[in-house]
Amino acid sequence: MTHETRSTCPYCGVGCGVIIESQGDQVTGVRGDPGHPANFGRLCSKGATLHLTASAAVTRQTRLMQPMQRLRRHEAPVPLAWDAALGLASQTFARITREHGPDAVGFYLSGQLLTEDYYVFNKLSKGLIGTNNVDTNSRLCMSSAVAGYKQTLGMDAPPACYDDVSHAQRLFIVGSNTAWAHPVLFRRIEDAKAANPALKIIVVDPRRTDTAAIADLYLPIQPGTDVMLFNGMLHIMLWEGWIDAAWIAAHTSGFDALKATLRDCTPALVAQVCGITKEDLYVAAQLFAGASAGDAGRRAPTLSLYCQGLNQSSSGTAKNAALINLHLATGQIGRPGAGPFSLTGQPNAMGGREVGGMANLLSAHRDLANPQHRAEVAALWGVPSVPDQPGKTAVEMFQAAADGEIRALWIACTNPAQSMPDQALVRRALERCEFVVVQEAFATTATCDYADLLLPATTWSEKEGTVTNSERRISRVRAAVPPPGSAQNGPRHDWAIAVDFARRLEPLLPVRAETGLFPYDTPEAIWNEHRESTRGRDLDITGLSYARLDDAGPQQWPLPEGETVGKARLYEDGVFPTPDGRARFAATTYRPVAEPRESRYPFSLSTGRLRDQWHGMSRTGTLGRLFGHVAEPAVQLHPQDMARRGLQEGDLVHVTSRRGSIVLPVQGASEMGLSQAFIAMHWGGEFLGGVSSMGVRLAGVNALTTSAFCPNSKQPELKHAAVKILKA
Ligand code: SF4
Repeated sequence: MTHETRSTCPYCGVGCGVIIESQGDQVTGVRGDPGHPANFGRLCSKGATLHLTASAAVTRQTRLMQPMQRLRRHEAPVPLAWDAALGLASQTFARITREHGPDAVGFYLSGQLLTEDYYVFNKLSKGLIGTNNVDTNSRLCMSSAVAGYKQTLGMDAPPACYDDVSHAQRLFIVGSNTAWAHPVLFRRIEDAKAANPALKIIVVDPRRTDTAAIADLYLPIQPGTDVMLFNGMLHIMLWEGWIDAAWIAAHTSGFDALKATLRDCTPALVAQVCGITKEDLYVAAQLFAGASAGDAGRRAPTLSLYCQGLNQSSSGTAKNAALINLHLATGQIGRPGAGPFSLTGQPNAMGGREVGGMANLLSAHRDLANPQHRAEVAALWGVPSVPDQPGKTAVEMFQAAADGEIRALWIACTNPAQSMPDQALVRRALERCEFVVVQEAFATTATCDYADLLLPATTWSEKEGTVTNSERRISRVRAAVPPPGSAQNGPRHDWAIAVDFARRLEPLLPVRAETGLFPYDTPEAIWNEHRESTRGRDLDITGLSYARLDDAGPQQWPLPEGETVGKARLYEDGVFPTPDGRARFAATTYRPVAEPRESRYPFSLSTGRLRDQWHGMSRTGTLGRLFGHVAEPAVQLHPQDMARRGLQEGDLVHVTSRRGSIVLPVQGASEMGLSQAFIAMHWGGEFLGGVSSMGVRLAGVNALTTSAFCPNSKQPELKHAAVKILKA
């Protein structure tokens, strides 16, 4: 008999609801949940094939099925029991902490973990061990959006919702190939355009992506020039009187300081730096402001949708803040169809931010740098203190490991040996680390090769918990089938592994707290503690329980005790969570990319997603049909660049940056700008020729990318590296 279980897609931040069909211990089908407000039954190619990636045939080939220890580096690991594995892990972490201090260990987590998993790891690191060295691959994804929101609006809270797409009269899509990266949301955009032909869509992207095909105005800016563009638009709005002076006076601060920085951003300069025409710049400013010339009083609502094109940048925070400046200057926030809406890349980057699972954050949007917040969290957890030293963020953590400062790393549900920039550095770090624990569902990731201890984890369709999508909507993730393998020594839930490890560690550490910090037997018990930590905070969810999510379905935060529904839209009253209740303009100035192209490295390399693949392909790469869209890795160039270099379609080329070199076939793509190159992020070394003559696994595009990062958000510039391209 077929059993049906409501759950959530584990891929992107749209957070689509799915209904899992199962028979016995096998997933047999999946379909979109018509009752889920993120997708109303729709699924994209990835979501619609989830059941195939969970089949027994695929599982047998890809899953990590028991704990394994690698006795010597570069040798095959051998099985061991859970008890011995967690004993080894706790003894080793305790020894290193005793000998070298708590900051000699670090945890590198994932936006694909569930909120409950994240919560335990965060408490374990900051509360029990006493180190803030806990960061996640969300640092590569959303940290600039977090920093941009906090700098301007006061809190890390996307103020808009998906429904705003159908209320907007202007959509400003920047740094986001929504058509491929958030396909079900893009269907909403297509529906909105079909229902309202007056809707104007502006797309800003150096590449003319599939998303640009729907644009009324497409701005092919030069890579990294977004701040100049936004400042130039605001310059024109000021000049033309399209700002909302009354709204600015009533609800913001800092506009005069910003105005001073805008003076030099003349249309002529902006057009030249961004590589667009002055006319297009003018139209973009006019459309965004929602004003017709001479008609500033009646504003059409403008919704911005943005993602990694802004975030993965050495100016990521400034790009986010400069865009939000446009919304504040025109009062385009806090009403239907208006607002700056950051799209999250991963399924639970939001949940991780909510529990404070990053090196500079604490539970419930508290700040590590704030002594009162540290005291509140210490009291909640029952520990004497939370350390005040900022932890290492993603790039810093691997740099510290390469320098010998961090000696033990625990990596859960992510694959830094493929996904982090500057792979030579990351692999050096993993080699130098004394002890590397990899907690993973899949045995096939590049990072598994560096593990001293491999801990098998459950995954989608097997685990329980919650996730939060881009629009602050919390959904349940539910188990439909038991984990594969032996009940005794097979995969375990991520939260349960962390809890078991923490309980073993407690008596081995210098006493920082009463023992018994981790009393959880279910993910619901963890949720309840997390929920209490949000009381009185901007994301207060004290009115939300597992039972409520089961009865009423997914809910948006905030939803405090006593409320029956969450808030679809924030700041409708014009009051912001800052000390004076006003939103803050940021005086943003343009800085070029960290590594501009020049004569020796004359191409701007960008990376990004494909429509049918996810991350490092440990799941989507198991299905032949998902290679029907794009079958193999390639470097895309404009046909004129190929002709100038005498390259034919399919020629093999060396793509080389200051950090590494890879060989790929070249592909002509007229959507590319001149002197620009694009390589999809999904392929790692195993797909690019496997193992070198030295026995080292080759890296994918991240052999080339730079670890230069935004000084504020610490998010690395995965969207730009200078490269040269020579025929192989
Ligand atoms: Fe899953 Fe995102 Fe596709 Fe929805 S749009 S089915 S969440 S990958």
